[in-house]
Amino acid sequence: MKVLVINCGSSSLKYQVIDSDTEKVLAKGLCERIGIDGRLVYQPAGSDKIKTDVAMPTHKEAVKLVLDALVNPENGVLKSLSEIGAVGHRIVHGGEKFTRSAVITDEMLKKVEECNELAPLHNPANIIGINACRELMPGVPMVGVFDTAFHQTMPAKAYMYAVPYEDYEKYGVRRYGFHGTSHSFVSKRAAEVSGVDLHNSKIIVAHLGNGASISAVLNGESVDTSMGLSPLEGLVMGTRSGDIDPTAVQYIAKKENLDFDGVMNLLNKKSGVLGISGVSSDFRDLLAAEEEGNKRAKLAVDMFCYRVAKYIGAYTAAMNGVDLIAFTAGVGENNGFVREQICEYLGFLGVKIDAEANKVAGEEKKISADDSKVLVYVIPTNEELAIARETVALVK
Ligand code: ADP
Repeated sequence: MKVLVINCGSSSLKYQVIDSDTEKVLAKGLCERIGIDGRLVYQPAGSDKIKTDVAMPTHKEAVKLVLDALVNPENGVLKSLSEIGAVGHRIVHGGEKFTRSAVITDEMLKKVEECNELAPLHNPANIIGINACRELMPGVPMVGVFDTAFHQTMPAKAYMYAVPYEDYEKYGVRRYGFHGTSHSFVSKRAAEVSGVDLHNSKIIVAHLGNGASISAVLNGESVDTSMGLSPLEGLVMGTRSGDIDPTAVQYIAKKENLDFDGVMNLLNKKSGVLGISGVSSDFRDLLAAEEEGNKRAKLAVDMFCYRVAKYIGAYTAAMNGVDLIAFTAGVGENNGFVREQICEYLGFLGVKIDAEANKVAGEEKKISADDSKVLVYVIPTNEELAIARETVALVK
């Protein structure tokens, strides 16, 4: 079956068409600047990107342009849209309502809408994308795959914040966690390639991208994760602060005369390794600056690695041990320097890295030494493929 995978943001829409039998990507791309002016990027497998500036007043026009590109006689990858057997949509927040992926119906979308307050920037955009697809592709089965669902197995002691219990009961204030599709995909794949029995395993997944989170996966189920009610909590990220004393937030707000939105913007967009270094949120730029002797760039990278290592220590305690640590996402997959720096803190666990193997970039590989007490792997994530698999499983 050919599956269209859609990841819709407020002004952008990423897409892939995946043949679920071969698991090959047939075409991919994105629509940018929706509602502003509009640009379509379309890339059939094995060919260069084709970029077209074209008006996209709403997401509906964006989806229409994607569908047109897919069946374009010149470089389309489908003869007709009827070849698309299902659509898988990424949805950011499923609250406590969704513990797994779900077939999209009117009733299901109502439940998604009820989670909007928890992710006001993301969920409404996801729903707009879904509605645009439903209008243009009536009758095609669609599935919603949630960033939060995998983490719904966390026990209360891990997901509760120590605030008045009524705030949880009345407003759903708790840790939800994100990147669930990636943590699920990578933990399963890590078990598969290493020969560890997923159902009898202690795995820590470090998803280190621009957004970064880490999870403790016990016997195949998430038992803790670093992101919280929103993706702001936990690790130091590209532009997000991660963990911080709320009093520091109040103090900055007062000093800088910022309201709630202003201070949240500072924490989400101007903090993290960008805020510390003043150089960039991109690790390639940071490492180049560090090499040139930039002290703040070095501090940013040091803080990032230290925080990851601390969480690995914490999650080892949470699971009473760790069998395997898996690095994934942009930095985790590509950056041996960062992986090495993190693992240097983990000697007490018997973690030993094979320096030669750790040169790997973007490929599945064991990077621990043969006498390491903990297996360490690089496992490239593939959220689109995970969404396509979930979609097929639910519509078949
Ligand atoms: P997101 O999906 O959250 O936007 P990614 O997973 O794409 O983020 O990760 C982006 C980060 O990965 C950037 O900091 C970038 O520098 C880093 N990255 C990507 N490729 C490489 C590479 N080859 N070497 C070092 N860092 C890389």
